[in-house]
Amino acid sequence: MQLFIEGEWVDALDGVVRKIRCPADGSFVRSVADAGPRDAARAISSARASFASRVWADRPERERGALLLRVADLIDRDVAAYSMAESLDTGKRLVEAEYDMADIAACFRYYGAMAGEGIGRVVDTGRPDALSRITVSPVGVCALITPWNYPLLQASWKVAPALLAGNSFVIKPSELTPSTTMMLMDTLSEAGLPAGVANLVTGTGAGVGATLTSHPDVDLVSFTGGLTTGRSVMAAAAATVKRVALELGGKNPNIVFADSDYETAIDHALTAVFLHSGQVCSAGTRLIVEESLHDRFVADLADRASRIRLGGPFDDNAETGTLISGAHREKVAAYVAAGIAEGAVLVTGGSAPAEERFADGFFYLPTILDGCTATMSVITDESFGPVLTVETFRTEAEAISIANDTIYGLAGAVFTTDSGKAQRVAEALRHGTVWINDYHPYLPQAEWGGFGQSGNGRELGQAGLAEYREIKHVFHNIDPKPPHWFGGSPAGSTDVAGG
Ligand code: NAP
Repeated sequence: MQLFIEGEWVDALDGVVRKIRCPADGSFVRSVADAGPRDAARAISSARASFASRVWADRPERERGALLLRVADLIDRDVAAYSMAESLDTGKRLVEAEYDMADIAACFRYYGAMAGEGIGRVVDTGRPDALSRITVSPVGVCALITPWNYPLLQASWKVAPALLAGNSFVIKPSELTPSTTMMLMDTLSEAGLPAGVANLVTGTGAGVGATLTSHPDVDLVSFTGGLTTGRSVMAAAAATVKRVALELGGKNPNIVFADSDYETAIDHALTAVFLHSGQVCSAGTRLIVEESLHDRFVADLADRASRIRLGGPFDDNAETGTLISGAHREKVAAYVAAGIAEGAVLVTGGSAPAEERFADGFFYLPTILDGCTATMSVITDESFGPVLTVETFRTEAEAISIANDTIYGLAGAVFTTDSGKAQRVAEALRHGTVWINDYHPYLPQAEWGGFGQSGNGRELGQAGLAEYREIKHVFHNIDPKPPHWFGGSPAGSTDVAGG
């Protein structure tokens, strides 16, 4: 398959092809172009030309919003094909891919309906002879780089606001999961997006990502991925002072007080960490449980975790799926081994499942490590797998301190029936999203993003649109006169003020 440039599918210049395989069983999914820097430059040039032509940027925002609403309808129409493609690339259960598609359509609808809101304001100049207004403009050419865990969902959080704001873009999906982002290009064309506004290159971070983040014709990089890559992206973008929005990883605390509703807390603790086999940036990987509750809670968690049913995308009996790749499974296993070597106690899991039916996939058992402490690498680093670590606390202050003791700050939760305590803890947590007596829900209308090294900028909500807009102050002197700052003008007659 090809690259999407200037509104057409074109071959990569060097013709190298990569095979996509389903991580649940290794079955062949499709071949995609493995593009290189010259392809990325070609796609950037297409986006730049479309932006310079103003073919999209000058459309009234209401029209741009209407196109996003059409995209949402088309995704609903094609939900079966989209979900199937997402499941095959990621190995996730079909039902989870269907949930993702509903969220993706909702994201396009949210931004489509926002058209015309917050597009500027008038400012009081304090002078009768001058008008002042604040206007918004598209940033220009955006490079959108996305990961493999929620491929089209992460893409939609970028594409929808970027288009509403009037930008042109080049998107690079993960080399492992490009299919649904490729499908989106056809959907955008069918919805009426002019050629050249949306461009796609498939390929590796080294092959095309580096060009996208350093090219002088790119104005903004919006990146979702790991912390180490995020640091490289920021460094690459610095030379041309691009705007950079980073959505990175997390080591997300889930605080459970002894006064929480037991069944609710235990059920959420499982979903928090084992949903999508822990391959969720906001996964509740760090259980921070009140000491008096610890023994019973961990024993019951282990019992339930050991009974979670693994399976492929189309196994109706499965409750969660595979990891994305062999390399990723090795990384997860290495973190578990390091945790045990550093003193953690393996309560359940800790290996790939033994059954023959899992042999061709990259499955890993839901794993719980007890007795963890702040300095263990399994606590400090993101393993991004189905690994729950357990720490304990005695006081509210200690719970907050443990939860905030991380370089990350993406999300966290607190379970308690004391609403005053819940509010105090939520306020004290240095994390971008805090759930109280719940885990995982997010809303397109609510900002998403991280404190600390979980990133900068926000996606979703109004701030998610603001990332893609430049702000301009237009000052209009409606009764112009010479300022007489220079040239021997009479004292006190100047209008000039500096800033
Ligand atoms: P990753 O390895 O950092 O890759 C993310 C994307 O960046 C991929 O498309 C990758 O390309 C590309 N890339 C790699 N090197 C690059 C470079 N030097 N320049 C430009 N692009 C480059 O992350 P991942 O393993 O795909 O995804 C998992 C990570 O994403 C986790 O850390 C997770 O927490 C994070 N995540 C965060 C959020 C959030 O909202 N905060 C949401 C989802 C995921 P290739 O891999 O194709 O080579």
